[in-house]
Amino acid sequence: MLRPSHGVGIYTRLFGENAQPDPMARLVVKFGGTSVADIDRIRNVARHVKREVDAGHEVAVVVSAMAGATDRLVGWCEAALKTRRIFDAREYDAVVATGEQVTAGLLAITLQDMDVNARSWQGWQLPILTSNVHASARILDIDGAELIRRFGERREVAVVAGFQGVHKETNRITTLGRGGSDTSAVAIAAAIRADRCDIYTDVDGVYTSDPRIVPRARRLQKIAFEEMLELASLGAKVMQVRSVELGMVHNVRIVVRSSFDRPEEIDSHGNPPGTLICDEEEIVEQQVVTGIAFSRDEAQISVREVEDKPGVAAAIFIPLAEADINVDMIVQNVSADGKTTDLTFTVPAADYQRALDVITNSQKAIGYRRLDGATDIAKVSVIGIGMRSHSGVAAQAFRALAERAVNIRAITTSEIKFSLLIDAAFTELAVRTLHTLYGLDKAAQ
Ligand code: ASP
Ligand code: MG
Repeated sequence: MLRPSHGVGIYTRLFGENAQPDPMARLVVKFGGTSVADIDRIRNVARHVKREVDAGHEVAVVVSAMAGATDRLVGWCEAALKTRRIFDAREYDAVVATGEQVTAGLLAITLQDMDVNARSWQGWQLPILTSNVHASARILDIDGAELIRRFGERREVAVVAGFQGVHKETNRITTLGRGGSDTSAVAIAAAIRADRCDIYTDVDGVYTSDPRIVPRARRLQKIAFEEMLELASLGAKVMQVRSVELGMVHNVRIVVRSSFDRPEEIDSHGNPPGTLICDEEEIVEQQVVTGIAFSRDEAQISVREVEDKPGVAAAIFIPLAEADINVDMIVQNVSADGKTTDLTFTVPAADYQRALDVITNSQKAIGYRRLDGATDIAKVSVIGIGMRSHSGVAAQAFRALAERAVNIRAITTSEIKFSLLIDAAFTELAVRTLHTLYGLDKAAQ
């Protein structure tokens, strides 16, 4: 296979559609915090890496900080403040980026100890160039040339500290936001034109729904980028949303798999166990519905009897945006009398009171009659790219929920999903009912 011998920016195109595993592939493998929680687990990670190297693959490893390490570092930053309310984000980044530096070095030592040629890399050493929005920087470009050269010349494994980069002008260390090492991994995979990016984690794949709520949830073999993006944004906390976006833009095939599988029992030339996140073209047997997500972390706000005239929605949502409150579902009715209407939307439950205050403060500008809301609600979402070409998918849900006396407060739809707002008490019933309705249940054992 042709390999570029020079630096490849992450905006360049990636590999082709090789559906079969490459006999000798270039891989990015990423290990999260629980997978590197202690020295024993780091050794287990090293055995996974060695297996891939022994199979002839070129490997770049991306690591998170040891479980709990980042939280501890953040806690120290907070504890260091006595008089100020917020800290200097540049210094926050200087502190929290250290967690990954430790694991990268430890894994390189462990690999060397197993006679695998390995070298650690921090973000600034590659470099991984980012914007200067400290604590939630975006990756702009990655120079993978040196890694590629070393794959070829020394068969050297690169162990890259995830979550961090460097701002291209100020030269200061940046971090990518919590959970950001997923994004590091996918971006590096794009930059070095990896054949695959394996995300090793404490679950063995992506499920049709949360197995804690739906015991009959099934592990998906494949899921399309767009569906995964919806799942991730709607509360399935498998991967950082931005990493999925990046995978979609650069068509990086991503596999979510378990780091607790025994390294020796896996055939590095076969199809990896886990869930493949890929382009929809690669999914031959497409189901209409792929997954059911839900979130109980939202609150509903209804602004009653607002005047039906231009500018009202702006008067409501601009102050909310200025207060940095993320609005999700928005439903407005068409007014019957041409004078007033109701407008309902959802916000994160944590911002509920603040959102009510913002609206109350803008009462004059908005001109509404009443304001009410609820926090004991849940949003249940049904996702599947098959919905684009099938009609009546949502209608089936309405009937099934009605039969179980689940009341729907609000409905929103998009091309590949619909979301229902219901009373929180009915979450489990609704999710299980829909899971069965759309044929997602695994066979009884
Ligand atoms: N260590 C960072 C965090 O805990 C980044 C990551 O694990 O992805 O958020
Ligand atoms: Mg994570």
